[in-house]
Amino acid sequence: MEMMRAENMLQDIDDTEEVSWKLQANCAGVDPDLFFPERGASTKEAKSVCRACLVKAECLEYAIRHGEKFGIWGGMSERERRRIRRTRALSMKQRASTSVAS
Ligand code: SF4
Repeated sequence: MEMMRAENMLQDIDDTEEVSWKLQANCAGVDPDLFFPERGASTKEAKSVCRACLVKAECLEYAIRHGEKFGIWGGMSERERRRIRRTRALSMKQRASTSVAS
């Protein structure tokens, strides 16, 4: 499963989505397996490719919105993206409860 995802990483992105950022991806031409390291393997190399990527923010946002569960997207691991999703969900919940209270 992860292998298939790695092969198709940016190619699989939904065509109906705004994906012009994909054209500027710094990982174009880089071995996609680098972005889907085995469990416990280093993510350093992938993250260093992302660090220099002009569309890091767009890539990260795409992965978060689509719940990408595997790989390095926007310079972040699945665990780091999960943390962002949790923080956003908590923040939305707090905002909702604040607006109901006022
Ligand atoms: S942030 Fe990383 S994974 Fe995303 S497009 Fe750029 S280089 Fe590729």
